[in-house]
Amino acid sequence: MTVSIWQANGTQPVREVDFLIVGAGLVGCSAAYFAGQAGRDVVITEARDVALGASSRNAGFMITGLDTYYHRAVERYGSDVVREMWALSRTTHRYLRQFIEAGDVPIDNCGSMLLAESETEAQELERAVRAMEAEGFDVVYHAHDPLGRGYCAAIEQPQDAAVQPYQLVQAIFKQSGAELVANNEVYRIEQTSAEIVTVYTRQYIFQARHVLLCTNAYSPYIDPYFAGKVIPMRAQCLVTAPLKNGPVLNTCGYSDYGYMYYRDTFDGRLLIGGGRKQNTWLEGNTSDDRITDPVQRILEAYLRARFPDVDEPIEQRWAGIMGFSVDKLPLVGTLPDKPRVGFAVGFTGHGLAMGAGSAERAVDLLLTGANPGAINAARLG
Ligand SMILES: Cc1cc2nc3c(=O)[nH]c(=O)nc-3n(C[C@H](O)[C@H](O)[C@H](O)COP(=O)(O)OP(=O)(O)OC[C@H]3O[C@@H](n4cnc5c(N)ncnc54)[C@H](O)[C@@H]3O)c2cc1C
Repeated sequence: MTVSIWQANGTQPVREVDFLIVGAGLVGCSAAYFAGQAGRDVVITEARDVALGASSRNAGFMITGLDTYYHRAVERYGSDVVREMWALSRTTHRYLRQFIEAGDVPIDNCGSMLLAESETEAQELERAVRAMEAEGFDVVYHAHDPLGRGYCAAIEQPQDAAVQPYQLVQAIFKQSGAELVANNEVYRIEQTSAEIVTVYTRQYIFQARHVLLCTNAYSPYIDPYFAGKVIPMRAQCLVTAPLKNGPVLNTCGYSDYGYMYYRDTFDGRLLIGGGRKQNTWLEGNTSDDRITDPVQRILEAYLRARFPDVDEPIEQRWAGIMGFSVDKLPLVGTLPDKPRVGFAVGFTGHGLAMGAGSAERAVDLLLTGANPGAINAARLG
């Protein structure tokens, strides 16, 4: 985000801050909570307002794990890393459930279904489930379509849930006790001494002892370190009008290797998301959160093919920008040339699985130097 000389010319008031967080999404608000618990005085600066980035545009799935089927993740990252990532997502869900309970946030404990669109994907699901069973995970393999909608197989994860994501982040923000400076974009960050970071924003020049960037998809626009490490990626959804005959699903989840997704909303609509696979050229490398026609046509076609019993009109469509990390694991670290500036970014469409746990590790890294483990950005060099 750029700021013109007319909006701010370096004469903004200076504010001294203990712990400054950039970005008031799910991750920034979770980090504010953990930094507050560690006794820090926390201010969040946000270009828009609480949760107006991806955190209130997502589908609200609390699905355990990464975006890659378990056995494939083991092939890619090794079993120790994959075990750690699944544990991190369970930790994240434990924190989210605490925030949800304390904040009275709507949640549907419906479990999730990862559905196969083809026999090949069904075989992948079966291998994934066998690998997860060997780890003692609570998962169920369905060799036939449990929804009766033409899928080939499914993995059911009974402990998963679907939440109201906007209210969730509002609740986390409230429970953090942090101060928010909204409508206040950061446009320059300098490590001015060993102990002080100067953060230029439209309304203030902050002098902060610690800074944490929770700017996910937008990180490459803030610091060149993130170029090629975090790739902004658009994701889109649609919802129907409330269904006359009540909900058609009692679950939420993905199909087609995570490229398509679906759930019931709390007011009885059907939500369909995805459509990016056929449009990667259009949906990648953009921070423009307008919807696009080719993706919306795919979502509509999916709705009509898999839910022929739903004839309610489509009432709303939207898009949001996810931050994909280059190796699809979250990135937690400090900027090489600014050691007091930490970051927790790159959630690859899975912030509700990895966000709060990663935020906790980022706060620990900044305050105590604790190694963030498998999500340590140092792995990228
Ligand atoms: C359509 C869609 C569906 C999704 N579905 C799911 C799902 O079901 N489950 C799941 O786990 N994940 C899902 N995701 C991903 C999930 O939304 C993200 O992983 C999560 O919201 C990331 O949270 P965040 O706080 O890191 O980022 P964001 O919510 O994007 O927050 C970053 C914040 O930084 C602010 N910011 C940026 N630049 C500046 C600046 N210069 N100065 C000040 N502030 C700045 C932005 O305004 C923004 O508020 C989905 C995403 C989309 C778009």
